[in-house]
Formats: sequence, structure tokens, C-alpha cells
Amino acid sequence: MIITPSDPDGTQLAIGIDVGGTNLRLALVDGCGSIIHSVRTRTEGHGVFSAFRALLTENITALRHYARERDMLATTIGIGVPGLVGRDGSIHVAVNLPALNGVNLRDELQAITGLPTIVANDVNACAYGEKVYGAGRDLASFLMVTLGTGVGGGLVLDGGLWTGFDGVAGEFGHVTVEPEGVPCPCGNRGCLEQYASGTAITASSRRIITEGVETSLSQIPPDGLTVESVASAARRGDQAALAIFAEAGRYLGIAAASVANLLNLEAVILGGGVAACSDLFAETVRNEVLTRAFPLPGKRMRIVKAALGDNGGLIGIATLSLHHQDRRKP
Ligand SMILES: [Zn+2]
Repeated sequence: MIITPSDPDGTQLAIGIDVGGTNLRLALVDGCGSIIHSVRTRTEGHGVFSAFRALLTENITALRHYARERDMLATTIGIGVPGLVGRDGSIHVAVNLPALNGVNLRDELQAITGLPTIVANDVNACAYGEKVYGAGRDLASFLMVTLGTGVGGGLVLDGGLWTGFDGVAGEFGHVTVEPEGVPCPCGNRGCLEQYASGTAITASSRRIITEGVETSLSQIPPDGLTVESVASAARRGDQAALAIFAEAGRYLGIAAASVANLLNLEAVILGGGVAACSDLFAETVRNEVLTRAFPLPGKRMRIVKAALGDNGGLIGIATLSLHHQDRRKP
């Protein structure tokens, strides 16, 4: 399935929902990508689907009420979920929220709200947001990569979001970079996510401390180690911390080089929390791509930072719902 951008219309209004492992964010987003109003609530304690559905319903109702009081009307809903989302709105694998596994979230929400609803992978939604309003605006084809707890991916090809035959395309984090490597919860071994996510970076830091490698990180208690603390050690010149980022960058580059050869993209757009430290690894990614890919696609593929930050997912999924609705009009 390919969804392509349509002309902005500021009078349209959608409810965008971003489902995270700990937070649920909802926003009213207009047809120009502006957030009119947003709320954030905890998903903890909503491990059963009926409880999660009640939480969604309550917050959607509150947002629609907020809009109505201001003479506005939300006409669509978009919900971004981390994991594998089928093109019919079924959740095949929900990362961190197993209560959603097997649920057709589109049908559930449409039945409750009466509004046309689209469900998408959260990073696909981010990619679409960056295409329409962010760093991908002037690009026809790129890969969005989010580096956070995991590694997510979303593909924009020839101006449209590419979600694949079943809807589950773009799982860049589960590209194999070490055939006999670290086991991954997806069932494979040596997935990129096990080497380049924020989780992997902090795990590597803990490992080198245990191994007795000389590093200023050993002064930080193991449970206090974060990507930010490893990054600030690296920026102070800590060689071990620099090596951890270089290693993550190398693996990202190995995977990105295959993507360059396969798809000849214009760019990789980096988002997510770890992208804030991309100054520490972007060069390594670039060099690895140039070393491994054919020169033409390797040089073509730039590494750029996402422009929409934390709001990319919300803006992207709301916009996706508006454009998807446009597409269905006669
Ligand atoms: Zn995996």
C-alpha cells in the first residue's frame, strides 16, 4: 500500500494518537500539521485490552469535546502503534503492549467513535510526518530510522509511504548485521536493534565496566547509565564511550549500505532519542556506507536529522488519517 500526500487544508482536523510503552499521547492536529491541543497519559495499569480501550475512549471523547467547544470538528482518527500493523488495522505484534496483539484496532475505534480510523506502525507515521512537514519535504525517497529503546524504520518511496504487501514493511531494526549474533525478541539473531539502539548502547557501557575497561563511565552506578551519560563522557573525550558510539554507527552503516544498494535512496533521516547524539556516530555511518555500497547510491544517500522531534509521530499519524480519507473520496 502506498499513501501519498495531498494538498494542505488547514480547516481539516484529525485526532492523532501515539501509543508508547509507558505513555499514551493524543493531539488535535489540523490539515497544516499544527498541533492545536495535546494530552499525555500513562499506559501503565492498562495491560488488559478492555482497560486500554476504555483509556483511549475517555481521552478521545475529551478531545472531541475540547474541539466542539471551540467550534471545531475532528473528522478522522490516526493511531500509531509500535510493532507490526497489518493493512486492515490488525495488530500482529505490539511491542511493549501485548494486550493489543491480535486486536483489530481500526475496527474497535471506528465502532466506538464512528470516525474513519487508520492504524499504522509508529515509525511509519513518523516517516510520513517528516515527508509532509519535516526533513523529508524535498525528498522523494528516504528511510526514516528512529533510534530509541529499539530501532524503528519507515520507508518513503517515490513520494509515498511504502507499507508493503501486508502493511508491515520498513522493519529496519530487524535487519541482520551479525549472522550468529545477539538473540533478538523477534526470534532472529544479530538484528541491528541489538547493536544500535539506546538499550544496546547502555548495555555495552555496562559490559565494558564489568570487563574492567578504563572509562569514566565506571564512576556512574550501573542503573544510572543512560545514552545521555555515555554521550557526555564521549564528548569529554572518553575513548571507551566514543568506541561504543562508533560501534553502533558501524552496525547502522552496515545495514544502511545494503539499503543504499537495494533502493538507491536520497537520505536516511535519523530520529528518536539517540539521534540527539548523532554527532557522535553519523560520520561512522557515512564511512561505512561509502566503504560497502556502490559509489553512486552510497554517495547519494545523505544522513540527516529528523525535523519534527517528539511530535513527529503525532503529526504524522494525524496527517496520514486525513490524507487516507482524501484518497477514499470519490
Ligand atoms: Zn529482531
